[in-house]
Amino acid sequence: MSTAASSPAASTGVLSQENAPQQQLGDPAPTAVLRESGQREVFCGLTSIVWLHRRMPDAFFLVVGSRTCAHLIQSAAGVMIFAEPRFGTAILGERDLAGLADANEELDRLVAQLLARRPEIRTLFLVGSCPSEVIKLDLAKAAERLNRAHAGRVMVLNYSGSGIETTFTQGEDGALQALIPLMPRVESGSETDQLLIVGTLADAVEDRLIALFHKLGIARVASLPPRRSTELPAVGPGTRLLLAQPYLSGTARALVDRGAALIRAPYPFGVEGSRAWMAAAATAFGVAPERVAEVLDPLVERGRRALAPQREVLAGKRLFLLPDSQLEIPLARFLSLECGMELVEVGTPYLDRQLMAEELALLPAGTQLSEGQHLDNQLARVRQAHPDLVLCGLGLANPLEAEGMATKWSIELVFSPIHGIDQAGDLAELFARPLRRHRAISFA
Ligand code: SF4
Repeated sequence: MSTAASSPAASTGVLSQENAPQQQLGDPAPTAVLRESGQREVFCGLTSIVWLHRRMPDAFFLVVGSRTCAHLIQSAAGVMIFAEPRFGTAILGERDLAGLADANEELDRLVAQLLARRPEIRTLFLVGSCPSEVIKLDLAKAAERLNRAHAGRVMVLNYSGSGIETTFTQGEDGALQALIPLMPRVESGSETDQLLIVGTLADAVEDRLIALFHKLGIARVASLPPRRSTELPAVGPGTRLLLAQPYLSGTARALVDRGAALIRAPYPFGVEGSRAWMAAAATAFGVAPERVAEVLDPLVERGRRALAPQREVLAGKRLFLLPDSQLEIPLARFLSLECGMELVEVGTPYLDRQLMAEELALLPAGTQLSEGQHLDNQLARVRQAHPDLVLCGLGLANPLEAEGMATKWSIELVFSPIHGIDQAGDLAELFARPLRRHRAISFA
């Protein structure tokens, strides 16, 4: 098995033009979406361990999987073997897969060894994979059993990163949902009002954004995931949640079920998107528009100046976004509205119309959206359109480059600090660079 996960429904792709599902209150007008199912070319949810283990250094991610899973996670994270990484793989061997060995007993033994050797681990995530699903290893029950065995020493949680169930960024959605039941409850009351930023951000970017929220007058700002897995923020009726990442549908709904209120906003990519994101939070906390302008306008001015040289490269260029990380729609909005790019097609693995409502409303009229993937059909459309730039998964970049198209790896966007007004110039530069390189190679 390669690092690309295949859809279980891989063999029978259908291409159908359908209208959007039932419109939600407050949603923009329905947009025609090309729905596709078939062979996919995306990383599985294990990939998100790469950024989650950096975010929470007191947590450990134990993949219960095969050697393939171990290779994926090892090569994606690039951690050297002597570096005591905070993730590992409990490898299911042939005897486990054939049902000849008791995988639960082996898992218990492995976890006991791990905890004895690594006393700093406070939260242990058992991460399911395709092989653990195939042999129906019940990791929820395993987590319960291990919690009893190691009570007071470590908290054991589980979620699935399997390529059968998840793509790429959905791994973070699963990990955060596993944390939600542990979040303390708060009751309503102004003293408990807090802003909860949801989704992993680079630490420096998060510090900067929190400082800006404080400056706007929002005193209590917390984050999920927190920097220490044991310091989970409280959640309750006074909590207003602001999504920093667009792929956290399950997490957002679970937090709303715990009493939090969702702030509806575009995502914090680009100058205008980030401003709107911060302004929406300010409005939710009753901050006056004048104060918002006073704090944010100088940043907006600076951000627009930083964007200008990149816009010269990007304006008028045709962009095709293949579905991969679920960042595609907000990025398409930024690249068209702020950088002047023309959108040929905007693909996304899943379309959550409620969480994307503000983004969809900002896309140029008539933008072609596609949800899901039928790789062959999508590549045929890419070849026919021959765009200037294709945003795609790692496995597709080289073949498309060989066919004369400039590409951008979507995984790079997940690892780069791209959120906020200050990062808008760097974000645009990530798209301008492959175009410059492509032009240089073409003229060489
Ligand atoms: S979880 Fe599945 S898709 Fe991901 S590396 Fe393991 S076997 Fe491959």
